[in-house]
Amino acid sequence: MIIFVVNCGSSSIKYQLLNMNGEQVLAKGLIERIGMEGSVLKHTPTGKYTVDISAEIPDHSVGIQMALDALTNEEYGVIDSMDEIDAVGHRVVHGGERFTDSVLISDDVLNGIEACAEIAPLHNPPNLYGIKACMRLMYNTPQVAVFDTAFHQTMPKVAYLYGLPYEMYVKYGLRRYGFHGTSHKYVAQQAAEMMGEHMSDLRFITCHLGNGASIAAIKYGKSIDTSMGYTPLEGLVMGTRSGEIDPAIIPFLMEKENMNAQQIDDYLNRRSGILGISGLSSDFRDLESAANRGDERSQLAIDIFAYKVKKYIGGYVAAMGGVDAIIFTAGLGENSPFMRDKICNGLEYLGTRIDPELNKLRGKQMEISIKRARVKIFVIPTNEELVIARDTLNICRRIIKL
Ligand code: AMP
Repeated sequence: MIIFVVNCGSSSIKYQLLNMNGEQVLAKGLIERIGMEGSVLKHTPTGKYTVDISAEIPDHSVGIQMALDALTNEEYGVIDSMDEIDAVGHRVVHGGERFTDSVLISDDVLNGIEACAEIAPLHNPPNLYGIKACMRLMYNTPQVAVFDTAFHQTMPKVAYLYGLPYEMYVKYGLRRYGFHGTSHKYVAQQAAEMMGEHMSDLRFITCHLGNGASIAAIKYGKSIDTSMGYTPLEGLVMGTRSGEIDPAIIPFLMEKENMNAQQIDDYLNRRSGILGISGLSSDFRDLESAANRGDERSQLAIDIFAYKVKKYIGGYVAAMGGVDAIIFTAGLGENSPFMRDKICNGLEYLGTRIDPELNKLRGKQMEISIKRARVKIFVIPTNEELVIARDTLNICRRIIKL
């Protein structure tokens, strides 16, 4: 069975084509600068060179058509015709309270995703463009939506309600939802497999540390808490996002810096975080090298980030009454031995310790704690596309007996 996985951002489309017999990636691609000058499609058939195709890509529909043309191209395509695609899996950022699992897309589901756009105005609309474009171009092919929020729908009220009047939750759905759900779910499943046990018997803390960063407490297979909230702005200090701050700072800054609502939103989402603290970069690689050269604010940004992660780990150990494994994933979690060591340094009281030699390895699935550690530490490269493809396959088999 061949599955096309689509992830639409506001001006980008990421895609993969997978053959689910053996879960093989046949090709992947990235379209950037949709609706802008200089838009480009980078298409990579597995094991071959990347083809750069520059063209005017005014909208997501044209982008999807270009991706399908690349996949069926005589020279660098990997299938003969679009008819070989059995199903399409879409990443959808926000599923609100309605979508607790992946679903086959129908008109009713489309309306549901549209309704969630009110709480995810930046994310859900581009996801919908991608879905609608695929439905138009492949009208006989089943389409499945896989939500970033769904995995966290098992959080209890004590974890997801804010200290606001309850009516605001009822009226506007103002509550914590959490994000990166497919990633947290995937790495927890992989860790359970590596431990030779079932997720339902284990307590995990999964640290998705990339440009956007979140942590989840997964108790006996269910997410019981996570650091992102109503939007992906809450929680850890991130590349350019502030993470949690005293909400009173917002009206203060609006008044003192003469900012309107949109400007403060932009300030907290795009100009804060480690970029704002260091004044240098949102990329930890830049900060690590600047700190090595003695740049104090870069060092401070690194220290603040590691401190926050450690505090969340401690909080989630308390919330779950213990922990069996801590898992690192995403750009920083997978690739920075320095940051992993910094975060875990001082967690020995939990019964864990990093093995310095194992921790030197990067970007591959491995256990990095010392052999006799009671609490294991894993590095597990995330694979959200594979989770989307697996969910799509399972739903198509279950519901439409494909
Ligand atoms: P992601 O959002 O998962 O793609 O992660 C991107 C972030 O991972 C970058 O902004 C970097 O801060 C970080 N990163 C990636 N590779 C490395 C590395 N080798 N060392 C340190 N940080 C890294």
